[in-house]
Amino acid sequence: MIIETQSGLGDNLYLRPMLRLLPSHNLTLITPWPQVFFDMDIKFIKPTRLMRTQFDNVNSLSELLWQRYSEPDKKVCYDLTTKSITENYCEQILGYQPNILVNEFDPGINVPNLFSKVNNKPICLIKPNTLRNEWFITSRNPKSEYLQKFVDMYRDQFYIISLANLSEDVEFYEKKLKGCHYYIEEAKSLDQTIHLFKLTSLIVCSVSFWVPLALAMNKRTICLYGGHVPPQRIVDSRISRPNFATLAPDPFCFCYKLKHECNKEISQTEIERIFKEQTHAAIHS
Ligand SMILES: [Zn+2]
Repeated sequence: MIIETQSGLGDNLYLRPMLRLLPSHNLTLITPWPQVFFDMDIKFIKPTRLMRTQFDNVNSLSELLWQRYSEPDKKVCYDLTTKSITENYCEQILGYQPNILVNEFDPGINVPNLFSKVNNKPICLIKPNTLRNEWFITSRNPKSEYLQKFVDMYRDQFYIISLANLSEDVEFYEKKLKGCHYYIEEAKSLDQTIHLFKLTSLIVCSVSFWVPLALAMNKRTICLYGGHVPPQRIVDSRISRPNFATLAPDPFCFCYKLKHECNKEISQTEIERIFKEQTHAAIHS
């Protein structure tokens, strides 16, 4: 069977549990992110249309990896108005809803954690708010001031690395965070990103591929939401983990619109409680 995945790195990471549960032994994926499935018995076909980061990834891989192009038997996609990403994929790929899925993310991605320190501080990886011209969405980012608040409060306790993939006029900061110890602003390969995650004690992010990658790697995480699509659609309870904390506005603006002026207000008490809980656990684990 040939399945065409959606094109995002995150979309592909979300597929791991369903594909691991699929009994088929003759599976081919049309995907720009084959590395996500290298630990599974799967063949790959190069997609015909690619956006910037996908194009870069495909170009970084050997031509020998790819099978000749054939039309897919099935294309997966999701509609988040009524179901989570996970529910959509389970329905389309498996035809049923398994109870527990979180363990199916590993072991391919769930590499041993190294918890490195820099200047005797544990590493915290933070995702600054960026915007992309290819897919312009302002509703999803959380308020930058909350990310900045984290840096201001915890820069003495963590070595904070801001990680973005910028490209002039294509992807740029919505607001650059001040006071991080190190800034990565150019493209990193998936292997390099996974390696960075491995060294990290705490992830601070928003909705993006960081979410399924952190879940797959069992990383302690604080995920902040803006509006657009609510937490229960992004992190289905079946793939959540106890070390994954969510900060979302209440009431949540579930507009599903790319440029809506959503309510992004989160209570300061809740922000400080989650920050404190997660940083404490990250330092003492
Ligand atoms: Zn909205």
